Amino acid sequence: GHEVPIIADESADIEKGTGVLMVCSYGDKYDVDAIKRNKLQPRIIFSHNGTLNIKGYEGMKIKDARKKILKELEEKGLIIEQKQIEHAVNVHDKCGTEIEFLPVEQWFIKILDKKSELIKQGKKIKWHPEFMFKRYENWIKGLEWDWSISRDRHFGVPIPAWSCAKCRKIIIADEKELPVDPLQTKKKCPDCKSELEAEKQVFDTWMTSSLTPQIASSLAGGKIKIQYRRALERQTGN
Ligand SMILES: [Zn+2]
Ligand SMILES: [Zn+2]
Repeated sequence: GHEVPIIADESADIEKGTGVLMVCSYGDKYDVDAIKRNKLQPRIIFSHNGTLNIKGYEGMKIKDARKKILKELEEKGLIIEQKQIEHAVNVHDKCGTEIEFLPVEQWFIKILDKKSELIKQGKKIKWHPEFMFKRYENWIKGLEWDWSISRDRHFGVPIPAWSCAKCRKIIIADEKELPVDPLQTKKKCPDCKSELEAEKQVFDTWMTSSLTPQIASSLAGGKIKIQYRRALERQTGN
């Protein structure tokens, strides 16, 4: 068995139901907030392949494990009542399969400390229709977390980075090396000299969408000239 601590927290509404609020490790955003606020120790019960990693249920798919748990509760006579309920469940927007949260390492760009700068830049733009600026401003003000730029996909622009499994050092490609696919470029750690691990994740399309003209031009053998660099030079005064 596993003991669950009971703590007082202002997010529980004492008038609602039993007045007790359950926090599971990663049910939704509110659970993540509660974990942080109360410094709870999350329990990660399944692996990357979607199967459970806890004793008695190892290797089982979540839905199969649910059936087994229910059967065990029945056998022990611990079920008081069962009824059908309707509730909102997060699903994959493409195939409708239910999704579960799994904390994994991702790449982020720090933006929360740049809110006022982003709004300042937005004011330089001529907006059509004008009210779209207000929408932009509200969106920036409402940002709650930094920008996640990496995705676990097979295709995409590779993130030009390597990491050292031994000393945790992260190596970013030199600008002169770009474009580079880290999976096809071996590197050694400058500190401990061990072989570096290539970054397998790719950039999210929003991260590289402004590069689309450059990528398309490179596929055409550079025959199409893109004015991007000149525009950038003009802007920075170089
Ligand atoms: Zn899917
Ligand atoms: Zn190292």
